Amino acid sequence: MSFNIAIDGPAGAGKSTAAKNAAKELGFLYVDTGAMYRTIALYLLRNQVAIEDEDALERALEKISVTLSYENGMQHMFLNGEDVSGLIRTQEVSDMASRSSARPAVRKKLLDLQRDLAAREDVLMDGRDIGTAILPNADLKIFLTASSGERARRRYLELKEKGETASLSEIQKEIEERDYRDTHRETSPLRQAEDAVLLDSSDLNLEEVVERIVSLAKERMQ
Ligand code: C5P
Repeated sequence: MSFNIAIDGPAGAGKSTAAKNAAKELGFLYVDTGAMYRTIALYLLRNQVAIEDEDALERALEKISVTLSYENGMQHMFLNGEDVSGLIRTQEVSDMASRSSARPAVRKKLLDLQRDLAAREDVLMDGRDIGTAILPNADLKIFLTASSGERARRRYLELKEKGETASLSEIQKEIEERDYRDTHRETSPLRQAEDAVLLDSSDLNLEEVVERIVSLAKERMQ
């Protein structure tokens, strides 16, 4: 039996970096499910699919194959065979991923891919509904969050470091809008599973978050 860790939480809580590092330390496969939604979003954008139109969305989803591979522990996303890993981190894709992931047909499309991976491997899977919907029997569930102000500040510094201009208040507004959409959608809204450990990273640095995840996992593995 594989050991499954589910990490859920809002955008910008530092989930992906912390989860990636913790997975490496534990020797687990890190599965970034947000990247899967982003891959579908890229197709929807490229093909200007009207996502509110159920039939159009269903037809589009039938034409999409989402697969992934790992190279040196790095997850690569493939859209109909094309490696799109470098194309799915734009603001436009973030926005479409957030909007389209609210559509039940999109969530259904990714369910088996996520469950199959978890059944085969020891995984640390990061997303929004992993502990509540995808892996309800995960061995360890963590809800990783941070205040929206702190998440906006981190994103702002990240963009500044890249030399991009950004407005802190704009970023905070975007983060709060995304949170609202993720927590208020009908299908699999973002929420803490009852049996999840709450980890607030507002006052923790990356190493401290990783250490906490690793020690929780080691406790459960005993
Ligand atoms: O985590 P990331 O920001 O890459 O996710 C992109 C979008 O995909 C999120 O805004 C969220 O709406 C959606 N998502 C989801 N369920 C997941 C992972 C991501 O709905 N398990």
